[in-house]
Amino acid sequence: MSQSTPARSNTSGTARLHVSSHPLVQHKLSILRAKSTETKKFREVVKELATLLLIEATADLEVIPVDIETPMGTAHCNKLGIRIGLIPILRAGLGMVEGAIEMLPHVEVWHIGLYRDEKTLRPVEYYNKLPVNPTVQLCLVLDPMLATGGSASATIDILKRWGAETIKYVGLIGAPEGVARLQQDHPDVPIYLAALDERLNEVGYIVPGLGDAGDRQFGTA
Ligand code: URA
Repeated sequence: MSQSTPARSNTSGTARLHVSSHPLVQHKLSILRAKSTETKKFREVVKELATLLLIEATADLEVIPVDIETPMGTAHCNKLGIRIGLIPILRAGLGMVEGAIEMLPHVEVWHIGLYRDEKTLRPVEYYNKLPVNPTVQLCLVLDPMLATGGSASATIDILKRWGAETIKYVGLIGAPEGVARLQQDHPDVPIYLAALDERLNEVGYIVPGLGDAGDRQFGTA
C-alpha cells in the first residue's frame, strides 16, 4: 500500500478508516478550521466534536440485555458490558477527553506522555501511569491531529505491550501520510476522523488542517 493512499475498507485485513459525513461534524469542523475562531470557542468545538465522533466510534460496542422496571412495566433494554479507557495523547488530546467522558459510563482516563528525540526522531516515553494489568476491554486513543502518525503508533505499541484487547483511534483531522502509517503499523486499529486532508507540509503540519491544535486550545500560539 502506498504511504499516501490510506485504505478505507477492510478487504485486505486493514481496519477501516471512518471519515464522518455527519452534517453536524462537518459544520463544527468548519468553525474549528477558521483562523478567526478564538481559543474559548475552539476548545468548546473540540469538545463537541469529540462527543460526536465518540458516538460514531462506539456504534458497534457489545451490549448485554437487561430488564428494567419502568413505572408502567418491564422494558427489555441493553447496557454496555465493557469498561472503556481513554488515552489522550498529550497535550492536544486532552481537549477531547471532556467531550468523550460525558458519553461513556465507567470510563477510565490514562495518560501517556511521549516526546520526539531530536537526534533519532523516535518517540520517547516520559510519562506512563498505566496500571500493571489492563483494567478495560476497549482503549480509545484520542488525538485531534493524525499528522505523521508517529505518536499515535507509539502509543498503540505501548497499549498492546500492556495487553490492551481492542484499540480504536479517534481524531479530528488526518493526513494521508499519518493514516497510512497507522494502518501499516497497526492494521487492526480502526481510525475515526472528521476529515482526511490533502497532505503534510515540510514541517509536519497538516494542510489545510487547522494549525497547531495544542496551541489553539491552550492559547499558546
Ligand atoms: N499537530 C498539530 O497540532 N497540527 C498539525 O497540523 C499537525 C500536528
